[in-house]
Amino acid sequence: MTDTHGGGAANIVICLRTDKPTPFIDNERGLCSRCQCEVWYRPHVPRPHQLICLECFPALHAKIGGDIELLVTRQTVAELAVYLRRN
Ligand SMILES: [Zn+2]
Repeated sequence: MTDTHGGGAANIVICLRTDKPTPFIDNERGLCSRCQCEVWYRPHVPRPHQLICLECFPALHAKIGGDIELLVTRQTVAELAVYLRRN
């Protein structure tokens, strides 16, 4: 995974499957690139990206190997902060 401008670029986006609830009504739906299940993703995720569901990510990581650098966009952090203040 890469991050070239403070959460503005990444090539793998880890997503929840759509059978899990989401607090965001504007989430978009996509397909996991590994198992093709339907996943949620935020409309502002960096592009281009590869969506991968949380359940498939460990196997993908085992295949890729190396250290994992996880990141979250500033916009997602701001949205989560608003959500957490309300709940
Ligand atoms: Zn999957």
